[in-house]
Amino acid sequence: MPSSDHLLTIDSIDEYAATLHRGVDHLARHLSGLERPFSGITPADSAAKVDPIDLDGPTLDLEGVLAELSEVYLDDAVWFHDPRYAAHLNCPVVVPALLAEVFVSAVNSSLDTWDQSAGGTLIERKLIDWTARRIGFGAESDGIFTSGGTQSNLQALLLARGQACLAENDPTAPLAATLARLRIFATAESHFSVQKAASVMGLGAEAVVLVPTDHLHRMDPFALADSLASAAAHDLLPMAVVATAGTTDLGAIDPVDRIADVCRAHDTWLHVDAAYGGGLLASTRRRHLLAGIERADSVTIDFHKTWFQPVSSSAVIVRDAETMRHVTWHADYLNPKAAQLPNQVDKSMQTTRRFDSLKLWTTLRMTGADAIGDMFDTTIDLARELFWVLTDDEWAADFEVAMQPTLSTVVFRFRPAEVDPADASALNTRIRRELFAGGEGVVASTTFHGETWLKLTLLNPTATVGGLCDLLDLVRATGHRLLDTTGVTR
Ligand SMILES: *Cc1c(COP(=O)(O)O)cnc(C)c1O
Repeated sequence: MPSSDHLLTIDSIDEYAATLHRGVDHLARHLSGLERPFSGITPADSAAKVDPIDLDGPTLDLEGVLAELSEVYLDDAVWFHDPRYAAHLNCPVVVPALLAEVFVSAVNSSLDTWDQSAGGTLIERKLIDWTARRIGFGAESDGIFTSGGTQSNLQALLLARGQACLAENDPTAPLAATLARLRIFATAESHFSVQKAASVMGLGAEAVVLVPTDHLHRMDPFALADSLASAAAHDLLPMAVVATAGTTDLGAIDPVDRIADVCRAHDTWLHVDAAYGGGLLASTRRRHLLAGIERADSVTIDFHKTWFQPVSSSAVIVRDAETMRHVTWHADYLNPKAAQLPNQVDKSMQTTRRFDSLKLWTTLRMTGADAIGDMFDTTIDLARELFWVLTDDEWAADFEVAMQPTLSTVVFRFRPAEVDPADASALNTRIRRELFAGGEGVVASTTFHGETWLKLTLLNPTATVGGLCDLLDLVRATGHRLLDTTGVTR
């Protein structure tokens, strides 16, 4: 019998199993009927569905709640499972990880302390070690799962800050004065979470020094050396260099090995933001693109991007476990100093924390790392093929491509000869908006050399060149229709 409060207890196990089975059926049926990645609903129409629901009203039975969920959520969700979704760094997810999700939420372990997770703690630790070995770190390494790349980057930079403040061992210098002198070195292509972290840490976003890039939008190691020297000459304290292994837009990979040489010469912390490129750790064909990552002090990996894991799943991995102490805090009731138990809270910025790593565990046990790497490689192959397609005569008349992809993004724009360069940004902005409203395909837009371009982020290994050409055709048709109706021409 369903209980009125629906609490999962020993007595409601049958209800629990029946409810979940029914929910999975409902979702599976919805997915099998999916016609496009998005319904095209507007925020106003969505609000008209969500707003009237009275959360203090009478409760619903299972069928009632499923019907309502379809109405307010599923019917208009954005489906990353559809290969015509090619906008942001969201991936379709592997089934073994979804299996793990069932356990993660129902067992509801909290990974802060041993006494709330037991074996879960050891599973997480083993996955951290496994990832560290893939990076090339030794036995002294450590790390922790986080909610995403933003949090991983913040934690890495917090550890770097701790190390920089330790190194600045002038006991008479007030902390605030030291903080004001700290600088982080990144590029204009780095993820915005670097500036955000600087801001959160009280350094101000201005503490991030933008190092020039080369023609492929990668950090220039010579310019980095100059920037570091110049900072030192101005009595500033270089706290960390952030190299990006896979920039969010162009997929550019900074020359990590040469950057590591510069960091070593200047005794500066090297953080590698591999939120996107981290999937290459599993690649059997392109692992070399991450050469030098083993020389980093800290690395961000987003499993929920290129490892086909459901949100959230990310990790920050450090070369030297000792550095994790900068986030350690002892509470008498939770992890007292004398405890001697494997308490993950000592290494995390969170306290109560989901057992997200279990998803990677079941994935490695059922899918295997090579298959994950192959899936990511397939999307990179697709991006490369699409680049050549776009430079082909048939397409080149209508499209420009920013540069040859390194990973799985293609930055391009619709610009037939008759379009004035001054109108190209507005036109491509409108194309993206029209496409999203139509729901037949979802692409992203971004800024390239100060103008609005379109971006395909390919993370669906089941996509085909033919299918993606259909998507490009849709972009082209939309572009020409806008030109005909609005006359954005020279
Ligand atoms: C996506 C991304 C991030 C942020 O990760 P979230 O998981 O979205 O918080 C950081 N760095 C890079 C390079 C990224 O692509």
